[in-house]
Parts: sequence; structure tokens; C-alpha cells
Amino acid sequence: MILSQKTLVNKNFSDRRAINFYAGPGAIPLPVLERVHAELFNFKGTGMSVMELSHRSDEIQFIIDDSAKRIKKLMGLDDQFEIIFLQGGGSLQFLMVPMNFSQPGDPIDYIDTGYWTGKAIRAAQSLGRNLKIIASSSDYNHTSVPNLNEIDTRPGAKFLHLCSNNTVVGTQFHSFPEIPIPVIADMSSDFMSKQIDVSNLSVIYAHAQKNVGLAGTTIVLIRKEMLTKICEGLPEIFDYRTHIKNKSNYHTPPCFSIYITWQILRWIEEDIGGLEKLGKINQKKASLLYDFIDSTSLFHCPVEPSSRSQMNVVFTIPNETLEKQFIYETSQAGIIGVAGHRTRGGCRVSLYNGVTQEAVETLIFFMNKFAKQHSTSVTKVIY
Ligand SMILES: *Cc1c(COP(=O)(O)O)cnc(C)c1O
Repeated sequence: MILSQKTLVNKNFSDRRAINFYAGPGAIPLPVLERVHAELFNFKGTGMSVMELSHRSDEIQFIIDDSAKRIKKLMGLDDQFEIIFLQGGGSLQFLMVPMNFSQPGDPIDYIDTGYWTGKAIRAAQSLGRNLKIIASSSDYNHTSVPNLNEIDTRPGAKFLHLCSNNTVVGTQFHSFPEIPIPVIADMSSDFMSKQIDVSNLSVIYAHAQKNVGLAGTTIVLIRKEMLTKICEGLPEIFDYRTHIKNKSNYHTPPCFSIYITWQILRWIEEDIGGLEKLGKINQKKASLLYDFIDSTSLFHCPVEPSSRSQMNVVFTIPNETLEKQFIYETSQAGIIGVAGHRTRGGCRVSLYNGVTQEAVETLIFFMNKFAKQHSTSVTKVIY
């Protein structure tokens, strides 16, 4: 049977949605899904879905250009940054960054804050760069970020790479360092979640699947003065200038993925009222959950308060059996994605843009009930 449009727009469809705390891909704002749904079969009178439009069509180029324009406007960037939409995820940027801004043997500095920076470091090392880890949180099991006022970059280093939000371990930098070399940030899990001060950043990259859309596209912001530092001789597809010159349409772009990003950017601007407001909403969600966790004897957040991520809240129940039971019972209650990263264990709740405060309140209600049932099973661990 072919589902009629009427069946699909049945309100129950959205009523039955899970409470989604997946770490990425993750929740997408419901109004965005509804708009996408409404124009799925016929985008702006073309008689086609965005999925069916040629990447050379005016509509697709409009979506790409308008998305870049909206990012600039939302972040207050003027024209100092070029914005491009690439494929290959955050992981390809782990290679493209060192390929574009350094040669084999060149010094490049990295801050190590856990899982994803580890991958970025290994990728750059595989290219034979003279890579130095100038600060690391590994001594304290990545439960806080290094103090950026104390970092010491090498004078000849081509750039400093850091990760603004550490998705796996639940830490976040709340500012960026003012240093003499360019700072390049992997913002894959907090890009477009709040207003940021970009004055100390030269390159920002973020895949879309956490806060701004679907897997498939990666957004790269490059300060124009960095373009003169790009190394010659790269294969065209790896050279950022190729994509800037071709308006992110050098080869077939992930059109539908960029379209969802465009819809989310519109939602941030038109429904929410900008990044300042969105940041407040996200902060509220995180503080509700952290405050609750800190108030209980059952749940424990290992992350040092000033380094806590607004996006990924990690916590444990210091009793393995009970922790497993908690994760199982959440899923039975329609609360999905609460298990920690496979390398860390414990629990992790991701509070990306698509997660509502109501979802967080539902989780807290559930956690509170669980804590009351089991609080005699553990004693509060003080670290
Ligand atoms: C999820 C994540 C990535 C992964 O990127 P892929 O798109 O899967 O290659 C990279 N960096 C950070 C900080 C992430 O959270």
C-alpha cells in the first residue's frame, strides 16, 4: 500500500517520537522535520524533491549560498570568512587541515582532550608532520580541559588545533586562546549551539550531524587571510580553494544534507531568534541536568564543573549492575541514547539543538524516580 500524504501528516506520527539523546546523528527539531516533510515531494514548485534536483540547478545553488549567508549572519561574521560545505565528515578534516596549512616536517601544535583529538593527532602524524601535543588532559582521564592561559605554542608552528567540545568525555572549552599562531577548531559537536567569539579562531570545521543537520556534509569556515597559507600542489579535491572557487559545487555536493542544514539555520533564525537565544536555551537544558545530577547520591558527574560540556553530559552510577539496569529502563520508557561512548562506558546524554527542554525534564523525572528506588544501593563517591 502506498502511504498517502494524509497518512504521513497524521499528528500521531510526531506524537510517537522517541525522547532522543543520541550523541550524533541525533535529534532534529520537530518543526524542521515537519517543513521537510511538507515539501518532500515538491520543493518550491519544482515538482521534485530536493533529492531529485540536479546539483547544477538554481535551487541547489541557492540552498548552498543561502546557507553560507545565514551562517555568516547568525554568527555576525561579515565577509572575513569563506564558508564551504564538504563531504568526508569531521574525519576528513583531520587530514585536510594539516594538508592545507603545513608541509611534511613542518611543526604543528595540538591540544589533546580525548577521543576525537586523538584521531586528529594520528591523522596528522600519518602525514609526517612534526606534531607536538602542547597540552593534554590525559593525566586526569580527560575530566577537565587544559587551561588555555597556560599553553605554550612553538613560535614556528603553522597552527594550533583544538577541539571545542569533547563529545565522548563531556568537556568543553568556553573560550579560545589569543596566541600568535592561527587557531583551528574542530567544532563538530557544538557548532551553531550558541553565539561564540570567533576573534581568536582562523579555521572552524564541523560536520552537520550533531547540531546542524544530517551526516553527509561538513561545514568549514576559513578566515580569508589563511588562504594565502595554503600549500601548493595538493590534489584539487583536498585544496580548500577548489571548493571556495566552485561555491561548494566542485563535484556533486550532498544536496539533501545541505538542505537540512539550511532548514535548521532558518529554524535558528526564524523560530528561535538567533544564536544568543539558542545558547540560553541550551545552557538551561544543561544546567537543569547537571544540577539534578549533583543533587543526587546515585548519579555522579566525573567532569570538573568549569569544564563541563553544555552538549554532552556524562555521568555514572557507581554500581555497574544498577547502571546497566538504568540504561535498560530508560530505553523501555522511550528515552533513547543514554549509554556512554563504547570506549568510556557509563552514561551520556547529548543535548543538541534538536533536544527540547521538555525532553530533559522528562529524563530528570525518570532519573529522580530511579534514584528514589535505588539510592540506598550506593554511597556517594567523592572524587
Ligand atoms: C562526532 C565527531 C567527529 C566525527 O566526525 P565524522 O563526521 O564521523 O568523521 C569529529 N569530531 C568531533 C568533535 C566529533 O564530536
